[in-house]
Amino acid sequence: MENREKGKVWIAGAGPGDAGLLTVKVRTLLDRADVIVYDALVSVEILSLIPPETELIYVGKRAGYHPVPQTEINEILLRQAKRGKEVLRLKGGDPFVFGRGGEEVELLVEHGIPFEIVPGVTSASAVPAYAGIPLTHRDFTSSFHVITGHPRKDGTSRIDYSTLVKTKGTLVFLMGVTSLESIMEGLMQAGMAQDTPAAVLEKGTLAGQRRIVSTVSGLAGKASESGIGMPAIIIVGKVCALAEGFHWAEDRCLGGRQILVTRPRQASSSLADKLRFYGAQVIELPSIRTQMISPNPLLKEALEALGKSREEWLVFTSPAGVLDFFRQLREQKMDIRSIFAGSWQVKIGAIGSATARELESHGIQADMVPSVFCAKALGEGIAQTAQAGSHVTVLRAAEGSEELIPPLLAAGLTVADVPLYETVYETHEQVREKIQDLFVAGAIDAVTFTSASTVKGFVQGVGLSDYRHVTAVCIGEQTAKEAARYGMRVLVSREASIDSMIQTVMEEFGCCGIHANG
Ligand code: SAH
Repeated sequence: MENREKGKVWIAGAGPGDAGLLTVKVRTLLDRADVIVYDALVSVEILSLIPPETELIYVGKRAGYHPVPQTEINEILLRQAKRGKEVLRLKGGDPFVFGRGGEEVELLVEHGIPFEIVPGVTSASAVPAYAGIPLTHRDFTSSFHVITGHPRKDGTSRIDYSTLVKTKGTLVFLMGVTSLESIMEGLMQAGMAQDTPAAVLEKGTLAGQRRIVSTVSGLAGKASESGIGMPAIIIVGKVCALAEGFHWAEDRCLGGRQILVTRPRQASSSLADKLRFYGAQVIELPSIRTQMISPNPLLKEALEALGKSREEWLVFTSPAGVLDFFRQLREQKMDIRSIFAGSWQVKIGAIGSATARELESHGIQADMVPSVFCAKALGEGIAQTAQAGSHVTVLRAAEGSEELIPPLLAAGLTVADVPLYETVYETHEQVREKIQDLFVAGAIDAVTFTSASTVKGFVQGVGLSDYRHVTAVCIGEQTAKEAARYGMRVLVSREASIDSMIQTVMEEFGCCGIHANG
């Protein structure tokens, strides 16, 4: 519904890249905004958190092109707000630190559009922090200064070097890498000692972060030797020397690793959270969304037919299935007693611990959970446990695994296969492109899969031309088989659990001895 009164713009900072540095306020707005207008510096890790139905508008620089002119950005903000939309204008770092936030606020004030400003963690302090460089330190300096290193249009500098040198404070230059050499020259000519420590910090707070520490006279040479890329900040002052002892980010168990986690959208992201805890940068790809089949005549029919045999099995193959089952009961105004209080006995099967937990939260203890998390083991387990002549109702996804039902039939049981939900695949086009680029650049170390359908969702959602360089961390054999079909390099976790998958990731990246029980 369009509502002129509702339109509002949040001018917000997304921080320097690490999703852990998002403010709680922005995290909430990512979920509720109608439209998100974002810049080049907003990381893929953060973009991957945006719900697929949110409209995403990119206004950053495109490769080889000029940035979208500010007037055009202004028009977009006005148009969306006037249509009654809640607009999140998302910028790298803090919107008021070289972010042109002021110009956008001016526009909103002029047009009487309601707005809020959400400060962000600026790269000026966060990037040094992730490199182990405190901006101030009692023994070395008592001030810091943030300066744009961006030259004027005619190429000349606007920096007042002699004033800067006199401050004796730590100097932080943003947008300065292309002028690195002239900045260092300017400082030395203004009297700064050649051996003053200085550093370039690239892609700070991200998995690919790099730090080059040298001196004012040596930094430009060292940076060009190492082929420093963007974005990067330059930092000058004695505090730079502390990085040698204080560095920490890349030393974390999964520091420097970027991992893509695929998950059904409704599932919790505990895997992503745990990987982040150990220092990984995690892109969450909600590769699949489950959509309940509603109304569901097949389910109604199956439930009304219960009681033809003395023992009735209800079998669940995912937490989403359990949720949809109870939702359907509610929608069809069916009472649980019509299922459990008959003259027959109801037995419950669950494919794994997460499904069993979901049942538990509805007051049901599963009678059978196979020790191996896979459809075949579930089928075999029920075939062994069920009494002769029992009837089994399988409640699961449309197009569920083909391996569940044959063992049941082989044991002489009768089976009703009832689809509860369908799987829908979706990813933002812009996010998909960025992820493809990361794969091509070899910047994604592993992808985690918790079911064969997440493999399908990933392939459909990301669409790479070649999967041979993808390392797939799989929860079980079925999942691994699906990943192998696309030529991925496959690792299978020892047990079908999130902790075991994390253990597998740790072992792969040379980080033994830490137990993933966090
Ligand atoms: N508003 C932003 C700064 C925008 S200007 C903020 O508060 O951080 C863009 C400059 O910020 C880049 O040229 C670079 O110098 C710096 N920058 C932003 N993110 C960075 C990162 N992750 N690592 C290194 N430098 C970064």
